[in-house]
Amino acid sequence: MKSIIIIGSGVAGTVLARQLLASGDVEVTMFEVGPEFTPADRRIWLDHMLGSDDIYAPFIDDPRTENENFGLRRSRLLMKGGTTNHWGGLTPRFKPEDFELNSRTGFGADWPFGYDELAPYYAKAEVLLGITGDSDNDDPPRYGAKFPFPHTDFTQGDKVVIDALESLDISYGHMSIARNGTRCITTGTCDYCPVNARYTAVYDLQQLQVEYSDLLTLKTESPVTKILMDGKTRTRGIEFMDLNTGIGHSADADAVFVCGGTIESCKLLLASADKDWPDGIGNDSGHVGRHLIGHPVMFAAGIRPGNPDGIGEELGFDSLISRHFDTPAYQHKGKMWFSGGVSANASIEEQVISNVSRTAMNAAFSSGLRMSMGGEMEQFEHPDNRVSLGKERTSQGLLTTNIQVGVHDVNLQTRQEHVDTFVRILKTAGCRDASIETGALNPDGAHASATCRMSRSDTDGVVDPNLQVHGTDNLYVCSNAVFPSIAAANPTLTVSALAVRLATHFAAAD
Ligand SMILES: Cc1cc2nc3c(=O)[nH]c(=O)nc-3n(C[C@H](O)[C@H](O)[C@H](O)COP(=O)(O)OP(=O)(O)OC[C@H]3O[C@@H](n4cnc5c(N)ncnc54)[C@H](O)[C@@H]3O)c2cc1C
Ligand code: SF4
Repeated sequence: MKSIIIIGSGVAGTVLARQLLASGDVEVTMFEVGPEFTPADRRIWLDHMLGSDDIYAPFIDDPRTENENFGLRRSRLLMKGGTTNHWGGLTPRFKPEDFELNSRTGFGADWPFGYDELAPYYAKAEVLLGITGDSDNDDPPRYGAKFPFPHTDFTQGDKVVIDALESLDISYGHMSIARNGTRCITTGTCDYCPVNARYTAVYDLQQLQVEYSDLLTLKTESPVTKILMDGKTRTRGIEFMDLNTGIGHSADADAVFVCGGTIESCKLLLASADKDWPDGIGNDSGHVGRHLIGHPVMFAAGIRPGNPDGIGEELGFDSLISRHFDTPAYQHKGKMWFSGGVSANASIEEQVISNVSRTAMNAAFSSGLRMSMGGEMEQFEHPDNRVSLGKERTSQGLLTTNIQVGVHDVNLQTRQEHVDTFVRILKTAGCRDASIETGALNPDGAHASATCRMSRSDTDGVVDPNLQVHGTDNLYVCSNAVFPSIAAANPTLTVSALAVRLATHFAAAD
């Protein structure tokens, strides 16, 4: 039986653990820097909903050098289950052209394989994450694969947005979203789902701990501080700290999988420098920590006068997506996807609390409709981009983070172009010019990617197409960190597909 160490209990580590345990003769020890956390606990849910507590505040430990173009901004969660504890669950696939960014645009790097290689693993990951979606939408091609759950229907509010999109000839479709279709009761408190309907790695892992109680050990509050090598090519295990005792330990393994997220995975390789890898493991060509990218976010909102049908927000998540600008035609300047929705011009809760009369409430509702648009666009890596090690240690025993990021003018221009598109849609829907507000944010740690990028050759990246660190025999990275480019789409379905592919490769190589 092989002993496997997985560093990080987020979705990448959890999907990988599930597949490895299912496929072979392995026992897995998973190390997690953060503490235990219970999904779907009614007390936690109530506290969260009543706003008495920011339940995720204790799991954010991000002291770092600020960078004006890229902020971690409370994005990552360092806890059992990692960042999917507060993710949105939006799960579009990347598109075929996304695997060929450099050949098509000159920016960034190509993936070492194309969309068709990943397509079957996307289909498996969609089942594992319980995704609702439109199985008939073949952009990108599904090759007959069905989503495990049907798509969410468009809401009345979506239809207001759709009318405007159709007038402007902008295409749209159903959002694919990790919400275990049949279990979701659409109450919209998804930041902490009371019934485990939204996919979270914490719930997945909890189930895995029951299914494989004799083969899976999870060590929480145990930051891995170093990967230990036996000579240049073989890892023999790791060093970690027990945060409860403050004592350091080591653990041996036949293979080590680094699943610490984009920021921590590259930092751990850098922090594991030794005599054979003086600049960090896998870093002889200097790519570890380089190429950091994320998604700039754009938004706009406005008020449409009149709401005779009393339309309001029905769901707490997006059910519509437009990938009209997420096509090869926009790739050279920055593709994007966007969604849109509506909410009533007045909050029903606030009016009830303020004892407003029914007549006054009806008047407030029918006075107008607030429409909002939001989207994310592809960012191109800049030669300045990099994550490096700080000199201090956080309270969780990790080295602090330095971030440096530059921005290409073409990305800034396109970002404004996309905001202008949102304004055009809002005006077409009837929003008053004076009511329209717009904004854009630089990327944050939420979708951070590419710091251990995949490449065929060790001169161009950190891991090979099977996610094995170049120049090593039994050390792997599975994280958004391995993406050579980020596309416009959200990253988590893609990293989950890569985790399934990696487990398949590992079992076959055995
Ligand atoms: C607010 C928000 C909304 C999002 N919404 C979406 C969305 O709708 N769709 C989408 O596709 N993506 C979304 N994302 C992104 C998504 O959450 C990430 O892509 C995903 O969680 C990455 O998973 P991971 O397992 O690679 O990393 P993480 O979930 O960050 O897990 C890594 C784990 O490793 C642990 N760790 C790190 N270093 C060490 C170490 N040295 N020793 C031990 N443990 C360590 C960390 O504590 C953490 O638990 C969102 C992110 C945010 C912040
Ligand atoms: S809308 Fe669905 S996924 Fe969100 S909190 Fe409610 S039941 Fe959970």
